[in-house]
Parts: sequence; C-alpha cells; structure tokens
Amino acid sequence: MPENEIQVLLVEDNPLHARMLRGFLDEIRTPRFPVAHEDNLTAGLNRAEEQRFDVVLLDLVLPDSQGLDTFLRWKARAPHVPVVVLTGLDDMGLATRAVENGAQDYLLKSQINGALLSRSLRYAVERIRARSEEWDSPMFRVAHQQFLKAAQVVELDDNIRQRLLFPQRTQVLSLPFRRDGYDQVETVFGYRVQHVLTMGPTKGGVRYHPSVSLGEVAALAMWMTWKCALMGLPYGGAKGGVRIDPRGLSRRELQRLTRRYTSEIIHIIGPDKDIPAPDLGTDAQVMAWMMDTYSEQVGHTVPEVVTGKPVVLGGSVGRETATGKGVVILIEEMAKYMSIDLSGSTAVVQGFGNVASAAVKFLEQLGVTILAVSDVSGGVYNSKGLSYESLSNYVAEADHGTLEGYTEGDRVTNKELLELECDFLVPAAIENQITAENADRINCKVIAEGANGPTTTEADEILIDRGIHVIPDILANAGGVTVSYFEWVQGTQNYMWTLEEINQRLRKIMTEAFHRALQRSIDNDLDLRTASLCEGIERVTEAKLIRGLFP
Ligand code: NAD
Repeated sequence: MPENEIQVLLVEDNPLHARMLRGFLDEIRTPRFPVAHEDNLTAGLNRAEEQRFDVVLLDLVLPDSQGLDTFLRWKARAPHVPVVVLTGLDDMGLATRAVENGAQDYLLKSQINGALLSRSLRYAVERIRARSEEWDSPMFRVAHQQFLKAAQVVELDDNIRQRLLFPQRTQVLSLPFRRDGYDQVETVFGYRVQHVLTMGPTKGGVRYHPSVSLGEVAALAMWMTWKCALMGLPYGGAKGGVRIDPRGLSRRELQRLTRRYTSEIIHIIGPDKDIPAPDLGTDAQVMAWMMDTYSEQVGHTVPEVVTGKPVVLGGSVGRETATGKGVVILIEEMAKYMSIDLSGSTAVVQGFGNVASAAVKFLEQLGVTILAVSDVSGGVYNSKGLSYESLSNYVAEADHGTLEGYTEGDRVTNKELLELECDFLVPAAIENQITAENADRINCKVIAEGANGPTTTEADEILIDRGIHVIPDILANAGGVTVSYFEWVQGTQNYMWTLEEINQRLRKIMTEAFHRALQRSIDNDLDLRTASLCEGIERVTEAKLIRGLFP
C-alpha cells in the first residue's frame, strides 16, 4: 500500500448516503482514499476476505443485518480491519455501544464533511497501527472505551475528543542499571507519560511491574487526568513506570535503577512540571531516592519534586495511608446512601499492599468484618473475620513479605476471593480482575475500586444490570493524589499540617466529589463511573477551550 493511500471499504445500503460519502472521499488528495462499496454485510465481509482494506465505514442498519449485531459479526470475521461506524441521530446509542465493543470511532451522517471524514479514517488507521506496535494494552482499550462513552454523553466537541484520546507527551526509555554482580548490566524499558498539560503541572505515580507498557502507562495517565479534574486539583494526569519485577532486585539494585530512571526523565519532571508519586511496586523509599537524585542534579534540595516521600524529608503525615483512607471514606458515604449499617457489614479486599492494607485497617476500625484478603501469593478467608494487626505483623516479618503460609483462615485463590459473598468488595491490587468471565458471579452490594482499572467495560455492563454499585477508581482511589496535593502545597509553601487537618480536608474533598458524581448519575440516569468521568472531562474541556489553541 502506498504511504499516502488509505483503502476504504464502504458498507452502506442507502445509495444517496453512499454517493455523498464517496464524493467527499474522492475530493481528498492527501492521503488518497480509494473506495470500494458494498450495500450489504455479507458482500462486505466477502470483499474484505478477498481484498486488503485499511478501514471500513460500516452502516449498522443493513438489509441483511441490524444493530450491534452488524458490528459484532464484522469483528468476528474481519477483526484486523478497523471500523468507523456510520450512524444517524436516532441511532447514537447503538454507535456508542459499537465503540464500547471495539469500533474505532463513529460519524454522524448528518454532520459529515470531507475534513471530519478524512480525520476520523486517518486516526482509526493510525490508532490501530500505533496500538499494535507500541500502545497495545487491554488497559488502554478500557480507558478509551470509558472515555468515548462519557464523551458521547457530554456531547464533547470533536476537536477536543481527538486531542484527549492520546497523551500530549510521552517518553520511552531503554535504561541500563548495574546488578550487584558488577559485570552484569540489565537494560529495561521505562516510561513517563503526561496526558494533559493544560491544567497545571502533571501528576501521577511510578509503577515497577513486569506488565508495564506504554499503553498501560498511557491509560493510567489518562485516568489521572479525570481523577485530578474530578477532585478539583490543579493538575493534569501523568504516570510512569519501569517494566521489571522489583521483587527480584536487592535494595541496592532498586536504588541504582531508581536513580537512573530519574536522571533519564529529569528534564520533564519538577515541582512546576510533573510530580511523581508511589504506585504499584514503589514506595516512600523509592520517592526519597528520586527526590535525592533530582536535588543532586539541580544543586539544592527540592522536596516538592515528588510526593509520597518519608515525612522526615518533607512528606505529609497521612499520605502513606491516604488512598486506603479515601476508599473507606467513600464506602462510608455509599453505606449512608444505601442505608447499610457498617458495623454489621462485611468486606473482602483483594491485595495487601499500600492501598489494600490501609483499607483493611480503616474498615476494621468502623466495625466492618474483613472476611478475606489476598496478595500475589493467594488469599486467606475467615468467616469470623481477619485481624489487620495479625495480618500486617505476619507480612512485615522479614522472611514472609507476603500472606503465603498465614494460618488464621482458609486458603482461597484470588479468583475465588472475588466471588465471595460480602457487602463491600475492594479490588485493590491490579487491573483487569472483574471481567465478562466472572462479573455474573460477583456476590457483593458495592465494589469500591482501590486499584486502577480492575473492572472491564463488558463487566461494567453486567454489574449495572445486576444492580451492583461500583465506586469507580477515579473517585474511590483519589485519596492518594489528594493528600499528594496537600504534600505538594505544604512543600511549596513551607506549611506543616497535622494529621487531623489532613484527614478533615481529605474527607471534605472526597465527599464533595462523591456527591457531585452521585447527583449527576441520578439526574442523568448514568452509572457512577460514567457520571464521574463526565465531571472530569467537562472540567478539562472547559480549561482547554478557555486557554485556546496555540498558535
Ligand atoms: P503495592 O505494590 O503496595 O501493593 C500491591 C498489592 O497487590 C500487593 O499486595 C501484591 O502482592 C498484590 N498483587 C500483585 N500482583 C497480584 C496479582 N496478580 N494478584 C493478586 N494480587 C496481586 O501497590 P499499591 O500502591 O497498593 O497499588 C495497588 C493498586 O492501587 C494499583 O492499581 C495502583 O495503581 C492503585 N493506586 C495506588 C495508589 C497509591 O497511593 N499507592 C493511589 C491510587 C491508586
């Protein structure tokens, strides 16, 4: 295929529409859009098997197939060809469902012009190429699906929609660090992604995990944008990561890796540019090394370059447990809304790291019985309840580190744990845990997402149908970035707030955001995730429109 040609298959039964679309495409010179046309699905699918197309423009209502089924049949037979759906005003819901199921975009027939059509087709092709080469990640697909769904609800300006789909700035690194055996140098991939630069500095954690990829980090950066906007914090979203399992590293290796990673991204981070924080696989110690490396480079101590650092280096009291605390504050609010008495209720928590263990601690303090917890080694279940102190003491012992071998309960797998009957299920470990495969068997009243991206879009639909309330990640786990903001403010202004002040401010910001999102979900008949995303997206859009476009 010549570089400047995009082969289009148009599947449209209305001859007038087909002529109009061909007319638009014929007039575009760069790139050229050679068009083949079929007027029913069967002929279109046969054609796609004989000939290679870069993209299909697909009407969902055809003589031999109607509705979402048209898209699903296309996807099943020709999954390699990206789809842009053609829709009428009365079929908008259908178009969104197609996008949720993997279509690249939709175009409203009554509003199509040559420029819109050309851009949508070019982007569909570029996205598929970019995804398969660098961005391919289930998490990024979920982030895109969620965003496009909410964008449709708020009737987002198409220019803004296209600008928000991919991050504004990404840095991909291949970085070396020395293992303890001096001769051995490890080269690993690292990333720093800044999704939106409009709102102020960018903000987001750094994760060390073997599944880290550009797409995953981009998804997390995008969620940070919506999260900060929803909370009203003056940041755009960012995220970083290194593709490595930190459990295989000694402390000295971890330090060398962290310092090298920091020095590689040093020109794009800083208190006024981009402020990292801990995430999966990193902690306050990693932040201390990042802060020290940055400070050494600029020649003076700059505590505000990271948050989530130890208190003695300018960290904030309450930051370490803030994400878990925030999750529990919103569980309290949801319990009030649903008239659930917390002291007689039960919870199941996936994970026992930073977020999950703090959630367990604060839930226990409210009288909630913790039926089960887990970590990478598996889970433990006790119908009479588990004790935070006993669990954390066990994990803290030098030769344990995980829950493996913990005997005060029965062993369960992570998969079984998610399906246990309880009032509150808190997935607080990793992404992609509640999927179309197990959503039917989830047995709780409320899911509070401590982790980022634990629920897929398909699972969301099933949970909505089953009446299970989901407090979405961008709302439920926003306590971490909120107290990070407090830490940054204290650092830049030389304030020192007490734990009581931190907790009061955290509760105020979290509950206000929760009730704003809840009210919107009630007023607009939306699930809480979409309502929360709408709140965040609208704030970012307003800022982008007011700032204007340079030049
Ligand atoms: P962490 O590294 O402290 O803990 C992660 C936990 O998940 C550990 O208990 C680990 O054993 C467990 N785990 C890892 N792989 C697993 C697997 N395959 N199955 C089951 N459990 C597994 O990380 P964290 O900071 O608690 O982050 C957890 C989640 O919360 C992540 O999705 C992160 O993005 C999100 N989050 C964290 C913060 C924060 O402030 N730390 C803020 C917002 C969101």
